[in-house]
Amino acid sequence: MTVRTRFAPSPTGFIHLGNIRSALYPWAFARATGGTFILRIEDTDLERSSQAAVDVIIEGMKWLGLDHDEGPFYQMQRMDRYKAVLAEMVAGGHVYPCYMSMAELDALRERQMANKEKPRYDGTWRPEPGKVLPPVPEGVKPVLRFKNPQGGVVAWDDKVKGLIEIRNDELDDLVIARPDGTPTYNFCVVVDDIDMAITHVIRGDDHVNNTPRQINIFRALGKEPPVYAHLPTVLNEQGEKMSKRNGAKPVTQYRDEGYLPDAMVNYLARLGWSHGDDEIFSRAQFLEWFNLDHLGRSAAQFDEAKLRWVNAQHLKAMDDAALAPLVAEQLQKRGITADERLPRICGLFKDRCDTTVALAGWAAAFYADVTPGAEELAQHVTDAIKPALATLAQKLAACAWDKPGISGAIKETIAAHGIKMPQLAMPVRVLVMGTAQTPSLDAVLELQNQQTVLARLQNA
Ligand code: GLU
Repeated sequence: MTVRTRFAPSPTGFIHLGNIRSALYPWAFARATGGTFILRIEDTDLERSSQAAVDVIIEGMKWLGLDHDEGPFYQMQRMDRYKAVLAEMVAGGHVYPCYMSMAELDALRERQMANKEKPRYDGTWRPEPGKVLPPVPEGVKPVLRFKNPQGGVVAWDDKVKGLIEIRNDELDDLVIARPDGTPTYNFCVVVDDIDMAITHVIRGDDHVNNTPRQINIFRALGKEPPVYAHLPTVLNEQGEKMSKRNGAKPVTQYRDEGYLPDAMVNYLARLGWSHGDDEIFSRAQFLEWFNLDHLGRSAAQFDEAKLRWVNAQHLKAMDDAALAPLVAEQLQKRGITADERLPRICGLFKDRCDTTVALAGWAAAFYADVTPGAEELAQHVTDAIKPALATLAQKLAACAWDKPGISGAIKETIAAHGIKMPQLAMPVRVLVMGTAQTPSLDAVLELQNQQTVLARLQNA
């Protein structure tokens, strides 16, 4: 059997990290098993769906490298198909028209609540042998309800939650078509999962209540349901369910803030799945290790500090030549065009950065003016050191512009003025890089343009 998984987001808000984790696992499972990953956009909620939200889904998945093999399929473009399957359901006697009005439904619900019963449709219009149905009201278009099996249980072995059994008597007859004939959500999902030959449904556990209903519809259509894995919720840092309503950021914002796709994949992977104690791993390792047996059962909590740490680890480990284009993109946003020095600049500074934005902040000092802070200037660039700075400038103007040449000029200056290394290095760093905290001075200066260094030293 070839594994076929899908990600089926509703484009009703900007997709956040909690949502995209529901894409990561089915993608990884398909990739790990040589299967097929399908993208399906569940856009039937016309009022709340938007193209902008679809764009963020597609852009976010592309950024994270969660490539799909089939789709995107849009449910709104499959309406004819749903209606055709609905006709099969009608022909097979699996549905019946229900004429109960909204007001009657409300009254029923109130009665049930007053009796402390669970609100549910009471089967008034469900045909049974020997049962007399109420007279059909005039001018009312009915909804179509699914004849849920009566008695027995619906059970499935959830890959995350274990065996789940629901008594059919707890499920009322679901509306599967509205009065205007449009199919409803659960029905469309089943038709899609059948047509797309999905073998494993890996999705958020907010859908657990839909699953027994969906399984019954599968069976009514003569199909066996797929394997289900319901992922626990992702909580935000406050311990609430992550949602855009309480400040969750769209996935693409993490790209803009300088996170690396592989670091995000690593972090998200661990948010609900584990491989022993491994915290930092590559995409290839993740795909080698991923299976549905190590999905966590409890809710995972997002932790931005941990995400930054994971990103820093990936940044450090990343090849300079691969890192440079990502930093160049961030520089471009500041109106800076980088040059061939950038990979080496990345190599020199990546250890002290946790995002490509931070790295671009350092790189900017090589391509644009720097403005040392008044405090650092006052502390390090004192009148006492200015003669030594002048000597250094002279020597740097005349030396070979490489590490040994620069290092020689610094050492000669120190010797000539009888001072210690930090007394000279700190003010030079402040003037040339805008801050006293930098990697080794000769390595930094070597990557700077000679004329730029001389000009900045003159600002002393
Ligand atoms: N469209 C649903 C959602 O965004 C997912 C449905 C499913 O995966 O079956 O929550």
